Amino acid sequence: MLFLDGAWKPAESGREFESRDPASGDLLGTVADAGREDAVAAVAAARRAFRTWSKTTPYERSAVLYRAWQLMTERREELATLMTREQGKPLKMARTEVGYAADFLLWFAEEAKRVYGETIPSARADQRFLVLHQPVGVAAMITPWNYPISMLTRKIAPALAAGCTVVVKPAEQTPLCAVETVKLLEEAGVPAGVVNLLTTSDPAPIGDVLLSERAVRKISFTGSTEVGKAIAARAAEQMKRVSLELGGHAPFVVFADADPVHAAKGAAAIKLLNTGQACISPNRLFVHRSIVEPFAATMRQRLEKVVTGHGLTDGVGMGPLIDEQALAKMRRQVDDAVSKGAEVLAGGHRLEGPEYDNGFFWAPTVLRGVTPDMVIYREETFGPIAPIVEFDDEDEVLEMANDTDYGLASYVYTRDLSRALRAAEALDFGIIGINDVNPTSAAVPFGGIKESGLGREGAREGIHEYLDEKIAGIAL
Ligand code: NAD
Repeated sequence: MLFLDGAWKPAESGREFESRDPASGDLLGTVADAGREDAVAAVAAARRAFRTWSKTTPYERSAVLYRAWQLMTERREELATLMTREQGKPLKMARTEVGYAADFLLWFAEEAKRVYGETIPSARADQRFLVLHQPVGVAAMITPWNYPISMLTRKIAPALAAGCTVVVKPAEQTPLCAVETVKLLEEAGVPAGVVNLLTTSDPAPIGDVLLSERAVRKISFTGSTEVGKAIAARAAEQMKRVSLELGGHAPFVVFADADPVHAAKGAAAIKLLNTGQACISPNRLFVHRSIVEPFAATMRQRLEKVVTGHGLTDGVGMGPLIDEQALAKMRRQVDDAVSKGAEVLAGGHRLEGPEYDNGFFWAPTVLRGVTPDMVIYREETFGPIAPIVEFDDEDEVLEMANDTDYGLASYVYTRDLSRALRAAEALDFGIIGINDVNPTSAAVPFGGIKESGLGREGAREGIHEYLDEKIAGIAL
């Protein structure tokens, strides 16, 4: 069902599509398959609802978000189980994601009340300036499958807090997670038309409506750089505001003074997070030549030890990839690297056997001797392959780390504080983990530079993505 103007409805065309478990191929359910006419109706509903929602007080909006946070916290187990089935991540990680998703509801329930303005002194004695912040209007959101609930709340919560109404188009691989999230918002008291949901198997026509409707004043997109650029180009035609959270190609730099075993344990954990299907996943592990042996040995041992399987099975540490295309990409990147001289220390192949054959399982893989001419050195992997690159000195490695069009996350391991700060300042990335593989939180601004995107989500900044800034000049 689609959620339009406060009611659950089938698509105008009557069409539906299936959602399947990527680990087993099992059918999980069917959902309405929205088309253009549904998208037009969603935008119209959001536009009507904006008239009243934008006039509510931040305290009223905060109360709804707070209630949503309570509901999500209560339903954590139920939502996590659904997420594991639909997206594949192990249940423990799904619980963590639901917690992270709920954090945005709570954070923006609080931030709604803290949109402070400013008064600015004038050069004229008879004049005062006042800065006003007002909701931009209808906001459209397009979200990915890899974090199917937190990417929704990271956008919806600040938009609602700001007084915007929204039209949400989730990824076609994870529509059931979106349906449950929107049901929860409905139950929390979000009024009719304030949140509208368009599940679809064919995103392009929906994207086209959202980009051509003048009532949509803001597009917030999380997904690939390729689609993000096309959306930004179209948005420019009407000067719609955009927030783009795109792909990444994170460097993970381990300096000679770091503990190689500790660094490798961190690298293994973040590399396998979500089966490597995270925009902040390390894609080049730069390790100082003097410590590459213990680092590589620990990586290999950690990755070989991980139990891969269905995320609902006890003890499973890594789930499947999302689809067949993802498996093909792993194959292509490994074959290319090996043909150019890389050595496979672990994995390097699809997993086979009765428990794997109906899903999309790739063995956790370590490659050593990776060089800049290999595809994996530049192309986002989005899978469980850890490519090790050796280096000799600080300036060289920082230059290599920055030699990418992406600029989302980066990681540095060192025990030298000055070196850590030099690296943090030199790295052209929006997020830097220093001896830390989890440098994210609802409280800090998340986002990239260069081709990894525009704008920030979470934090104080997150709500301003949905607010226009105006000034009033007042003559006394
Ligand atoms: P994708 O770009 O294929 O899809 C993302 C979303 O865009 C989906 O909802 C999809 O249906 C929609 N979409 C695709 N084509 C469209 C079109 N023509 N018009 C409108 N919508 C369209 O990306 P994906 O494979 O689902 O997700 C993986 C990518 O997302 C990776 O590159 C990853 O790094 C990135 N990502 C980034 C962040 C971040 O915060 N920076 C977070 C998660 C994922």
